[in-house]
Amino acid sequence: MPSKTSYPSIFTCQMCGECCRGYGGTYVSESDIKAIANFIGEDPEDFKARYCQLSGSRYVLAQAENGYCVFWDELCRIHPVKPRMCRNWPYISAVLEDVDNWRMMANSCPGIKTDVSDEVIRRTVARKIEERRRQRRQDAENADSEQEG
Ligand code: SF4
Ligand code: SF4
Repeated sequence: MPSKTSYPSIFTCQMCGECCRGYGGTYVSESDIKAIANFIGEDPEDFKARYCQLSGSRYVLAQAENGYCVFWDELCRIHPVKPRMCRNWPYISAVLEDVDNWRMMANSCPGIKTDVSDEVIRRTVARKIEERRRQRRQDAENADSEQEG
């Protein structure tokens, strides 16, 4: 029996790559750019020129001729350092603003389960977002103490 603190799985990635297809969805911040460029051994400026496009004033990952993200090849080739947007999916704040967004997102993501109540979705997403924030704070503290040490 699930305990009071457990929560059901509402998402299991099917590795289908649907979320990696289509133009312009994946914004990359400067810290994403640095991390990915470092991972693939490119200079950040060269990385922007080779692997990014501008969407307004912001960079997005470029699309290959097959319509997928340039880093998709049956799986994400930069998985350990993929952009924050990709890491956060599908636990995003838009679901907390309107839980219907979860059900809409399920139309393009077969890993998202919809046979769960709105309350469970809200609670689970809120918890995942909080876990992520806590992890980020922890990482920042660890980085600070490494610098001090
Ligand atoms: S669309 Fe959903 S299930 Fe498919 S790879 Fe992306 S996150 Fe996973
Ligand atoms: S970076 Fe990886 S997860 Fe993100 S869109 Fe590209 S292939 Fe998909």
